[in-house]
Amino acid sequence: MSEQSLTAIPVDSLKGVGPKLKEKLAKLQIFNLQDLLFHLPLRYEDRTQVKPLVETQDGERALIRVIVQLSQIQYGKRRSLICRAYDETASIDFRFFHFMAAQQKKLQAGVELYAFGEVRRFGRSLQMVHPEITYINEGKAAPLLDTLTPVYPTTEGLHQASWRNLQKQALSHLRRKPIADLMPNELIQKWQLMGISEALLWLHQPPKNTAIEDINSEQSPAIKRLIYEELLAQQLSMQLQRLRFQQDSAFIMRNDGELNNKLLELLPFKPTMAQQRVVSEISKDLQSSRPMLRLLQGDVGAGKTLVAAMSAFQAIESGFQVALMAPTEILAEQHFNGFNHWCDSLGIKVAFLVGKLKASERRESLELIKSGEAQLVIGTHALFQEEVEYHNLGLAIIDEQHRFGVKQRLALKNKAPENKQLHQLMMTATPIPRTLAMTAYADMDLSIIDELPPGRTPVKTIAITEQKREQVIQRIEEACLNEKRQVYWVCTLIEESEEIQSQAAETTANLLAEQLPNCRIGLIHGRLKSEQKQIVMQQFKDGRLDILVATTVIEVGVDVPNASLMVIENPERLGLAQLHQLRGRVGRGSVESHCLLLYGHPLSDNAKSRIQIMRETNDGFIIAEEDLRLRGPGEFLGTRQTGEMALQFADIVKNAVLIPEIQSVAKDMIKQSPQLAKNLCKRWLGYRHELADV
Ligand code: ADP
Ligand code: MG
Repeated sequence: MSEQSLTAIPVDSLKGVGPKLKEKLAKLQIFNLQDLLFHLPLRYEDRTQVKPLVETQDGERALIRVIVQLSQIQYGKRRSLICRAYDETASIDFRFFHFMAAQQKKLQAGVELYAFGEVRRFGRSLQMVHPEITYINEGKAAPLLDTLTPVYPTTEGLHQASWRNLQKQALSHLRRKPIADLMPNELIQKWQLMGISEALLWLHQPPKNTAIEDINSEQSPAIKRLIYEELLAQQLSMQLQRLRFQQDSAFIMRNDGELNNKLLELLPFKPTMAQQRVVSEISKDLQSSRPMLRLLQGDVGAGKTLVAAMSAFQAIESGFQVALMAPTEILAEQHFNGFNHWCDSLGIKVAFLVGKLKASERRESLELIKSGEAQLVIGTHALFQEEVEYHNLGLAIIDEQHRFGVKQRLALKNKAPENKQLHQLMMTATPIPRTLAMTAYADMDLSIIDELPPGRTPVKTIAITEQKREQVIQRIEEACLNEKRQVYWVCTLIEESEEIQSQAAETTANLLAEQLPNCRIGLIHGRLKSEQKQIVMQQFKDGRLDILVATTVIEVGVDVPNASLMVIENPERLGLAQLHQLRGRVGRGSVESHCLLLYGHPLSDNAKSRIQIMRETNDGFIIAEEDLRLRGPGEFLGTRQTGEMALQFADIVKNAVLIPEIQSVAKDMIKQSPQLAKNLCKRWLGYRHELADV
C-alpha cells in the first residue's frame, strides 16, 4: 500500500471517510491523497504554548490554562452558562449560549483545564465565548502540541476536526512515500527551493515558534516553493493551450485590399500610423492557416472600429463570413448602423442578431446567415446560440472581450466549419497592464493602438464636492443654453440591480428637469426597451436633447462627438477603468471637453487616489497600471479570474517580477521534457487544464 503513489490512493481509503464525506471532498475536487495534501490551510492557530491571561490581547486566539472558580446559569435575554476561572495572573469568564447539563456539571469549582478561544477584553475583565475545553485530570495534562494548528478552508458540514484527522493520515502516507517532485532539479537549485513534499509537510504542520504572520508570505520557503511551482504550471498551461490551438488550421484569407481601398476613399479621415500598423499585423495573421488569436488594445476613441472593419473586409473579400459580437444591444446596434453605412456603399450584406428581435426579424436574420447571403453578422452573444447556423464563418471579432466568459468563447469556437478553427480578434478599451498581459493573456498575441486620431483635445477633469451641486447645475445650464454644449449626467449606484439603478436615474432626471426648465433632458437606463434606448440615443446624437441622464449603461462605445461635458455623480463608487471608459464618451469632438467628478463624503484614501489619478492623466495605460495597483487584477481579467486563471498562492501583481524568467523556463521545459510539463499542469490545474478554452 505504501508503495503506491499518492494519486492512486483514493480518499475513501482513509479512516473515517464514508460515501457522504467522499462526496463532499469530491465537490472540492479532492479525490486522492495528493489532492488532499494540496488542500492547504487558510490560517493557523497557536496551541503550542500557554498564554498567561494578563498577556492576552483583545481579539487574540489563545490557549490558556486555568482553574474553575464557579459556574452558574444566567437568565437574561438569552439563557447562558457563565463560568469564572483564573490563572496566576488574572481571571476570565467563559460564556456558553448552548450547553448541556453534563457540561455544566463538569465545570465545577477547582477543576483544572485548557481553554482555546478568542479573548475579549472589556476594560479589565476578560471573556471567552464558547472556548474549546480540554480537562486536566489530577494535574496530569496531555503534552502540548509541538506544531501550529492548521485551519482549513472548508465547506458546509465538514469540521476542522475532520480535516485535521484526514490530513494527519495523509501526512503519514506522505512521510513514507514522498510525492514526485515535478520541478526540474536545476530549477530547484537555481531558485533555491524546498522540495515539494517537504513544503507540504511544513505547511500542514509548521513547527512551534514559527511566526504565524510570516507563514503565508513569500518569506516562508514553503510558500515560495508553491508560488514558483504554481506560476510555472500556469505558464506551461497557457503555452500548451496555445500550441494545441495552433495545431488546428484556419482558412487562409488573401489580402487583395480592393474593398479596403474603397473603404479608405469613403472615410473623411486617414487611418493613424498605429491603426495601419495593427491592421497589417492582423492581415498577416489572416493570411496564414494558423488560427489567429489576437487581442487588440486601444484606448477609448483610438479607432478600433475601423481596424475591425478592415480586418472583416479582408475576410469577406476572400469569401468568408465574419461575426462581430458586442457585449450590449446598444453597442451592437451602434456597430450595425456604423457598418451598414460603409457596407451599403461597398455592396456588403449585413445581418443583425440580438435577443430582442421579433420572431419574424429573427427568422430572417437566421436565414441570411445560414444561406451565406449575409457576409457580415453583427450582434450580441445571441450570435453564438445553438440554433444559429453559419454558412462559412471564418473570422470572429469580439468587442470589449473582457465582458465575455469562457463559455461564450467555447460556444463561439463551435461555430467554425468542421475541422477548422476560427480566426479570432478580441478588442478591448481597457488596456491590460504589461505584467498582467504576460500572465493572464500569455495565450494570445497582442496588438496595441498607442496613438489617438489627431485633433483631439484632452478632457479636463475636475473634482467637485457634492455640496456644490447647485453651482454645478447652474454651470450646466450656461453650457447648454449659451455655449450649445451637450451634457452627459451619469448616475452611479453600487446596487447590482438594474431596477434600482434605473429608478435612481429617473429621480435624478426629474430633479434636473425641475431645476433646469429650459433644458431638454433625456433619460437612458438598462430597463428601457432597446428601441426606446435607440430613440433617446438618436435624439441626443441629433442634438434634440441637451442633457442625457444615464446609468453606466453608456459606459462602452457610445459615440456622440458634440457632447463635451460629463458629470459623474459619486465617482468614488467606480473603479478607475470604468471611470476612464465613461470619460471617454466626451472629448470626441474638437472643442475642449470637461468631466466633473461630483464626489460624496467622506472619501476613503483609495477613492481619493483614484480621483486624483483621473485628474492627472488621460492615458489609459497609466490608469490601468494604477487600477491594478489599487484594486488588484480582478477588473482586467473579467471572467478569466474566476475560472481557469485563479491562482491560490502566487499573486500576479506582487510576483510580477518573476514572470519573464518563469515564462522562458516554461518554454524550454515544453521542448525538453514535455511529459513533465503536462504532469505539472495537471497537478495544478487538473480538470481546468483539460478544459482549455481556446
Ligand atoms: P474605439 O477605439 O473607442 O472603439 P471608435 O472606433 O469608436 O473608437 O472611434 C472613435 C471615433 O474616432 C469615431 O468617431 C471614428 O470615426 C473616429 N476615428 C477613427 N479613426 C480615426 C482617424 N484615423 N482619424 C480621425 N478620426 C478617427
Ligand atoms: Mg469601440
